[in-house]
Amino acid sequence: MPEIYDLHSHSTASDGALSPTELVQRAQQQGVTTLALTDHDSVAGLAEAQQASSDCGLQFIPGIELSAEWQGKTLHIVGLSIDAHFPAIREATRELQNVRIERAKKIAAKLEKKGITGSFEAVSTKAGDGMITRSHFADFLVANFHVNDHQDAFDRYLGSGKPAYAAVEWAKLEDVLQWINAAGGIAVVAHPLRYKLTASWMRRLLTAFKDLGGQAIEVVTGRYNANEIRTCAAYAKQFGLYGSVGSDFHRPDNPWLELGRLAPLPDGVAPVWELFVRKTPK
Ligand code: AMP
Ligand code: MN
Ligand code: MN
Ligand code: MN
Repeated sequence: MPEIYDLHSHSTASDGALSPTELVQRAQQQGVTTLALTDHDSVAGLAEAQQASSDCGLQFIPGIELSAEWQGKTLHIVGLSIDAHFPAIREATRELQNVRIERAKKIAAKLEKKGITGSFEAVSTKAGDGMITRSHFADFLVANFHVNDHQDAFDRYLGSGKPAYAAVEWAKLEDVLQWINAAGGIAVVAHPLRYKLTASWMRRLLTAFKDLGGQAIEVVTGRYNANEIRTCAAYAKQFGLYGSVGSDFHRPDNPWLELGRLAPLPDGVAPVWELFVRKTPK
């Protein structure tokens, strides 16, 4: 049986639609053999996903997607194979949860100025114990007919520079890398082309990332075409980074973005799973 890796996915512990158990079951149905759950700034879904994975014989990689700030830019850094009980991770997620609650209040106040009331209560209820994200606000705006769809919510209200955008101070990139490394994890630059960096900024970022102990970069994601995959593969090789693959799956009603539906890692890129310590005997 071929190994199928998907090393970037979300559950209800952040802005995914499926519970950790449902996510694992869907991954298995899609033929995934190794899955990482990487919720935004949260490890709350890992224990359940780990249990569900061992129940159905899937190899599970505990992960997280941390929101980091570097040179005034917001970046997402995935940590793979982390020890979620490590104190620094616990502390970081607690801190980032507060940052997210405070930001949600600011977003809600800005929406209120536009005559849209009740969003904070609605997103808090929807997120439950999970992290509140802008996706929750987008869902709220769609459900209340303020926008046509998710993308429209970002384009008109929630995106950078739009009326309900609230700037936040995420964790510093160096702290994020320190937490991931201290927790025994592998730090991965998530969806590297999403930040719209010029080639020289990308060079600066990857140099800094490597200096701070980062080890990998996403080369294949659910959204990339062959050209973009080649670009990321070249970065991986140029900077001596391992390559990761992950769908960034959030919800089933997105048929073109399915768990495990990923192009192969290009030749010459060292797979990040070479760094995984196999915890269960083959
Ligand atoms: P947050 O980390 O709370 O700022 O929310 C980020 C999440 O919102 C991402 O993980 C995506 O799921 C979603 N998102 C961010 N930007 C967009 C966008 N332009 N269009 C659609 N969804 C987006
Ligand atoms: Mn998300
Ligand atoms: Mn992301
Ligand atoms: Mn993600």
